[in-house]
Amino acid sequence: MKKYSLTIGWLYPELMSTYGDRGNIIVFKKRCEWRGIKTETIRLDAGFSVDDLKNCDLLFMGGAQDRQQQIVAKDLVKKRKALKQMIDNGTPGLYICGAYQFLGKYYREADGTVINGLGILDLYTENPGKGSSRLIGNVAAQVLNNGLIMGFENHGGRTYLGKNVKPLGKVIKGFGNNGKDQTEGAIYKNSFGSYFHGPMLPKNPEFADFLIKLALEKKYSSPINLSPLPDSLEIKARESIANRLGIDL
Ligand code: GLN
Repeated sequence: MKKYSLTIGWLYPELMSTYGDRGNIIVFKKRCEWRGIKTETIRLDAGFSVDDLKNCDLLFMGGAQDRQQQIVAKDLVKKRKALKQMIDNGTPGLYICGAYQFLGKYYREADGTVINGLGILDLYTENPGKGSSRLIGNVAAQVLNNGLIMGFENHGGRTYLGKNVKPLGKVIKGFGNNGKDQTEGAIYKNSFGSYFHGPMLPKNPEFADFLIKLALEKKYSSPINLSPLPDSLEIKARESIANRLGIDL
């Protein structure tokens, strides 16, 4: 059997990694390893080289507090061209919360400070400020072809999608993008933005495999079939969240 390998690029692990986001990297690594797929994870902290970024087959970036987002914004803007090229070119990636906000046009903080986004995805995010609460709690959304995804959200920003992106899912329980229009996350080419922390992928193994498959198919330009994994613990984790949310799986 052909030996496959993937290079995973972890953007800003030092500054952008809240509510267990690093668990998503562990899931990518383990689910590949269990199938004999070699992985290398490259940590792309502030000041990283664009060449390192370009070597990656699958990208991940987590969320953060506004303070960290301000620091990261200064570095990220220098990488805009390379990242946009990769995203436009279909490099698969998962971008959680603060990272998701960065892919849009801007994020306006509660005090009115605007953090410019990369403007790669047609969306923007605003925190309504005084009198509005953070959107916190367990959350579930219905995803086309892939059942229910589940996670935990904690964000002040409300994200609104433009017509050039599709939502990742429809909120069943929780708030999602903005607590109003029942959308959760966004899809643009092979890039996926989401508010699901928790981390997201241990509770959503099908989605993890979907991303791994996308990355392998893009790298090797051929259809890939991933062997099934038992997922008994993952199923338990899903059941536990479903119970807390009062939904049937
Ligand atoms: N700071 C952003 C907000 O509050 C993102 C939070 C996060 O990544 N969890 O909306």
